[in-house]
Amino acid sequence: MKTVALLAVALVLAGTATAGRIVRLYDPATAVLVQELGADGMDIATASAREGWVDVVMDDRELDRASLYSRRFEVMPEEWSSLTDANRGNAGFYYSYEENNAFWATLAAQHADLVDTPVSIGTTVQGRAINMVLLTSNAGPAYKPAFIFTALTHAREPGGNSVLIDWANWLTTNYGSDTQATWILDNTRIYLVPIVNIDTYIANCNPAGGMLRKNQTPPDGVDLNRNFTYQWGYDDSGSSPDPYDDTYRGSSAGSEPETQAVMNFINTIDPIAGFHYHAYGGYLIHPWNYNNSATPDEATYDSWSGAMCAFSGYAAGRCGEVLGYNSNGDADDWGYYSGSGHPKIMIFTPEVDDNGFWGGQSDSTVIVAICSQCRPMNRWLCMNAPSFVGISEQEGAPVPGQLTVGAVTPNPVSGSAAVLVGIDSPAGARLTVFDISGRSVAEVSTANLRAGDNFVQFTMPSDAPSGVYVLRASAGGATGESRFTVLR
Ligand SMILES: [Zn+2]
Repeated sequence: MKTVALLAVALVLAGTATAGRIVRLYDPATAVLVQELGADGMDIATASAREGWVDVVMDDRELDRASLYSRRFEVMPEEWSSLTDANRGNAGFYYSYEENNAFWATLAAQHADLVDTPVSIGTTVQGRAINMVLLTSNAGPAYKPAFIFTALTHAREPGGNSVLIDWANWLTTNYGSDTQATWILDNTRIYLVPIVNIDTYIANCNPAGGMLRKNQTPPDGVDLNRNFTYQWGYDDSGSSPDPYDDTYRGSSAGSEPETQAVMNFINTIDPIAGFHYHAYGGYLIHPWNYNNSATPDEATYDSWSGAMCAFSGYAAGRCGEVLGYNSNGDADDWGYYSGSGHPKIMIFTPEVDDNGFWGGQSDSTVIVAICSQCRPMNRWLCMNAPSFVGISEQEGAPVPGQLTVGAVTPNPVSGSAAVLVGIDSPAGARLTVFDISGRSVAEVSTANLRAGDNFVQFTMPSDAPSGVYVLRASAGGATGESRFTVLR
């Protein structure tokens, strides 16, 4: 490629002094364009395979050549890519590193019964503590499934950090008054890592910064979301072996202290599901991202994504489907893969719809919008993932030949529902609905049960709040269970 040498020089300049601008290149053949840009070592911000455009970060010299990639292109507002003079140091309406520290400490002090004091899960390249915050109440069952939420793995994507701040605010403010906030804190553990890539986030908030994505490992940083150990370096299009490329995957799998901290932490809490927040584009991404193939849970991913994107309007799919290019060594693939040191996690990457990387710095309505898109997705995930059979550790196995209980439909339940019960001998059979703490909330009539398969309909009591429930059948010493969620 004839332009390689020139571009390499330009990239070095971009990493030090020249502020980049986001340029939107329109081309229906997104995948081809992405490949071409990738081969030239260009910094791709995001893309839309559906709408046919690619956003790329360009400095002045690269901008001169934008028309070589696409005759139709648009230079996006400066606020999409860098902090204005007024917002340097304080990140505008986003929370700076110092503001994050103050926020989480204050939240823990104000809601000591719901929020733990931030705890370090490891240190960055420059020795700063990477903090996590646990939100849960003292009520509820002994076993509470865990959820993981992270943000700012890529240091120029502060929108995800705003979402976690809003999420923690909403949960704590509404605990005790909103049934879902109460249920979530009573029945789950919410682990937040609000800033993974602290060193570079601080650098981005300083005068010269704004567009740095990688961590601070010399000479030019490592893309932490290409450094996870599963399928690390699978190929050179989903990550780069070039230390000066913006998707440089590091010298070895899991080489970076930030990646190690996140992996070790996740392996100690064994979350059942979670979100790694990134920006931008308005997507909800799920594995496999390294080769764009479907996981065995593709149907579940699709149905969950459909339910959550009904709130946010985001486009769902694998990285290769929505962006038009793959990535490897990312946190999603590592999290879903159960051989990574934890049981399978139903993990997603939301790419918030953020008007570029810093689009909300002077316009808080941008940040309010992404929070109101993502809060219901967070809520849906925490309300529904615990009843998903494939990841439940508490599922009661049916006893073959004596009693089987099928899946409750619809799920989630808003009022009436049905379930298939197979039974050898209906004499003395009982069907009871329990809440997750084991309290009986409804007895389903067994008067019409007969030997064989029975289609049983039942109605949840109107005062049963949103949450996870268990329908338990018992007959002749055998029991079978089916879990489901009520969503009011
Ligand atoms: Zn990102």
